Amino acid sequence: MITQAHILGKDDSILVECQNGFQLLPEVCEAFKQMQAAASEDDVDIRIVSSYRSFERQLQIWQNKWSGKATLLDVNEKALDASTLSDQEKLIAILTWTALPGASRHHWGTDLDVYDKKSIEQSQHDFKLVCSEYDEGPCALLSNWLNKNARKFGFTRPYSEYKGGIAREPWHLSFQSSADEMSAVQDEHMLLAHLKKTDIFGLDTILSNMDNLYQRFILNRGLI
Ligand SMILES: [Zn+2]
Repeated sequence: MITQAHILGKDDSILVECQNGFQLLPEVCEAFKQMQAAASEDDVDIRIVSSYRSFERQLQIWQNKWSGKATLLDVNEKALDASTLSDQEKLIAILTWTALPGASRHHWGTDLDVYDKKSIEQSQHDFKLVCSEYDEGPCALLSNWLNKNARKFGFTRPYSEYKGGIAREPWHLSFQSSADEMSAVQDEHMLLAHLKKTDIFGLDTILSNMDNLYQRFILNRGLI
């Protein structure tokens, strides 16, 4: 049974180590390996760059962004000057690229980020996980392959277009059937209750914008 702890990234006991230490749900790992084998026949070397992420890890990423230790980007991947932003603008800038801890699809074991390892190595490209690499760079072949084939293996791309919420992330895959079960259990009030128990930076700003940000960024419905 899926619990709030699974949704919030507080319990990884239902996951397996799939490849190179990356954790996924067993059925997601199985489907991924089948897809990987099929891609390899087309000379596409799909590898995982990120899969399960715990609440604590996501919180650490969040704290680094809020405190200015990590660079903030606008939706076009341009660096922002955090000192010129209000707390609300900062919140929106962070959420464009970074999920609120407890609300990342990477907590579920259903979602993963992928790249084309062989192509990156052959092009001696310094991989940055940015859209241009997938649109016309060394991961373009992979991206096209996924467009044609990912659904056959049960995977979709929830961030394939920018709707005004989360930035476009062509590298992000979701195992749809399992992710649907997770999102059915996801709950705004449980998330809020949990965040209040942590030392997350920007909590007041998060609280006063919660309803809007939940729709816009967590459900990724964008600007409505
Ligand atoms: Zn991702």
